[in-house]
Amino acid sequence: SLKIDHLTMAYGEVEVLKDVTLEVPAGSVTCVIGPSGSGKSTLLRGLNRLVEPKAGAVTLDGSDVLTMQPETLRRRIGMVFQQFNLFPDHTALQNVSLALNKVKKMSTAEARKLAEERLTDVGLASRMNHRPANLSGGQQQRVAIARTLAMEPEVILFDEVTSALDPELVKGVLELMTDLGKRGMTMVVVTHEMGFARKVADQVVFMDEGRIIEAGAPQQIFDNPKNERLKHFLQEVL
Ligand code: ATP
Ligand code: MG
Repeated sequence: SLKIDHLTMAYGEVEVLKDVTLEVPAGSVTCVIGPSGSGKSTLLRGLNRLVEPKAGAVTLDGSDVLTMQPETLRRRIGMVFQQFNLFPDHTALQNVSLALNKVKKMSTAEARKLAEERLTDVGLASRMNHRPANLSGGQQQRVAIARTLAMEPEVILFDEVTSALDPELVKGVLELMTDLGKRGMTMVVVTHEMGFARKVADQVVFMDEGRIIEAGAPQQIFDNPKNERLKHFLQEVL
């Protein structure tokens, strides 16, 4: 499991994540919800150290994430972003296989074969040789997810991966993520999609002003919220 213990993070002098403690059991889906600026992205950035936490501990199956070699960390904890971060001048296939070449040190032929498999898994068997500009936003996001899956991470962090998509493309990506969850992938999902959180999450975490205010099963969070700020937030978004 992924264990986050009293994590505190700051940008310069400004503390934006305060004393966050959370456990993400292996094979479970944790959805993180909360208002804009509450620290959701900062938490994910801390977990794969795009921003180095200031205090606290993070362990993945007992290994210390905060002192882990960056290459090992990127391999074990994958991340998918709102903006897909694909190389525009590479095809879908190249975007997925490049990372395998580089990080997993696979031969070109091996990397290509694995990339084809992962792209097929995400429903893009017929789009492998397209460049990002010639794919829909939803397809581009599925390439980004295939690229992350190809690394065989133990945990995947998703930061509002459907927020930049046209409404009609959101469903396909959410279905893919639902499927990953069902297949036992350990996932931390920052999302505004409350329907997804209710249906797929094992645990929902509500953050506000850099702290976890309430956490529990989806039923508890959505149907029986206790904290006033959470009640107010749900009124605004549901
Ligand atoms: P949103 O739902 O809008 O994505 P969020 O919950 O992901 O919001 P964060 O991006 O984690 O929020 O931001 C938490 C706080 O940290 C905010 O007050 C934000 O202004 C601040 N912040 C975020 N990134 C930086 C940065 N690079 N430098 C300084 N402050 C930052
Ligand atoms: Mg964010």
